[in-house]
Amino acid sequence: MSKPLIPKSKQKDIAQERISILFKEASATFSKSPTLAHRYIALARKIAMKTKTKIPRELKRQFCKHCYHYLQPGINTRIRTRAGKVIISCLDCKNFMRIPIKN
Ligand SMILES: [Zn+2]
Repeated sequence: MSKPLIPKSKQKDIAQERISILFKEASATFSKSPTLAHRYIALARKIAMKTKTKIPRELKRQFCKHCYHYLQPGINTRIRTRAGKVIISCLDCKNFMRIPIKN
């Protein structure tokens, strides 16, 4: 691949935009095709890693950090609060993530 002519800062803006679009698409297609939704997450992660951008905090909770599946509350994920933490359980790989609640 040739060297991109777009400045790095601009690349990151584009990356952020594409990541949010992919997450939007993932949530829209999940009910029809979970595999496709999981693929969108994989692509979003790839973009984030390649451009070294962060996946926004609110989007980070929408996928499993173990199996990278898209998480749809009530379908393949369980969200509970316990001891000042939000527990997000992935029902696909049976792992869970803990997020402390900040005040
Ligand atoms: Zn998982």
